[in-house]
Amino acid sequence: MIPAPVIAAFHPPRRTLLGPGPSDVSPQVLAAQSKPIIGHLDPLFVGMMDEVKALLQYAFQTRNEMTLAISAPGSAGMEACFVNLVEPGEKVIVCRNGVFGDRMRQNVERCGGIAVTVDHAWGEPVDPAAVAAALAAHPDARFLAFVHAETSTGALSDAKALCALAKQHQCLSIVDAVTSLGGVELRVDEWGIDAIYSGSQKCLSCVPGLAPVSFSAAAVAKIKQRKTPVQSWFLDQSLVMSYWSGGAKRAYHHTAPVNALYALHEALRMLANEGLEQAWARHKAMHLLLRNGLDALGVQFVVAEPYRLPQLNTVYIPPGIDDVAVRSRLLQQYNLEIGAGLGDFAGKAWRIGLMGYGARQENIALCLHALQQELSVVI
Ligand SMILES: *Cc1c(COP(=O)(O)O)cnc(C)c1O
Repeated sequence: MIPAPVIAAFHPPRRTLLGPGPSDVSPQVLAAQSKPIIGHLDPLFVGMMDEVKALLQYAFQTRNEMTLAISAPGSAGMEACFVNLVEPGEKVIVCRNGVFGDRMRQNVERCGGIAVTVDHAWGEPVDPAAVAAALAAHPDARFLAFVHAETSTGALSDAKALCALAKQHQCLSIVDAVTSLGGVELRVDEWGIDAIYSGSQKCLSCVPGLAPVSFSAAAVAKIKQRKTPVQSWFLDQSLVMSYWSGGAKRAYHHTAPVNALYALHEALRMLANEGLEQAWARHKAMHLLLRNGLDALGVQFVVAEPYRLPQLNTVYIPPGIDDVAVRSRLLQQYNLEIGAGLGDFAGKAWRIGLMGYGARQENIALCLHALQQELSVVI
């Protein structure tokens, strides 16, 4: 017999998470997650899921019936939107201004769709004029897909204008709101967004592993008209929906991550208690505080001021500074995590996240103090 390994219990340190996610989770949300587990078909749990749905409708600002949290991370939310909506041979205009736009393209192609990309330099928002030209050049396109808040670059795109363009050209819009939900203005119904997905671990400050999604009536109609079955059984929304809205008649589809949903319930309740507009304003105010401090340190932002995401601050690593050494000292000496650059920005930029519960004054003070120490030491 192979002997059992002797391994000590895992005790993670208490870090301050100012990266691109997961963000800091409040003690209140962590406590919710450690409450006793009950069955996922227990009437009390079914009632709690109904409340999660209502709270998600508030966070998304939508009355969409098909609003729920997929039991998997944000990437599964992305995949759910594409596999349910895009059928083989259908054309999708995909905006690329960072890592996640390119993942959308890969999703389209794996669904057998035809992706027409509208490319931008990293750090730029999506240009509505370029999108309008692509829509005009491809009258057979069925969808417009873009990332609202590009976490790889820190750029915010004008979702309202882009969704209006999609409508003008009879396209359904597919929007990545993984980093935007809860952090910046987002109004699903008012802006006419057809399919949207997010993640629990960014501005909602919940534990990772859940992907809020919402589909408009037009998106649901498109799914119902499919000629081919959705190739993913797990992500087929017509099956998942009967689980989320079956009420007392709810039937088994998969086992919901019961305790993670307790955490999401609590995180969304905290957001509702603060108020969505107040949460957006808090992210903005904290961003300005950080920006003032970084300006004083001479650290430069990548994104032009009007398009900066308050919750994800991408800054150039000052010349002569060792990226990996500084980030590892922040972690070792200050228990502070900031994000590395991704893709084109690897080794060139840092990403300082101020997401959800992390967007607090004391965290900004710690971050500025630590950076000031580190940058002066190395120079
Ligand atoms: C984090 C992120 C994702 C992926 O979410 P996971 O939970 O890591 O799967 C997708 N899009 C954007 C914009 C993100 O920031």
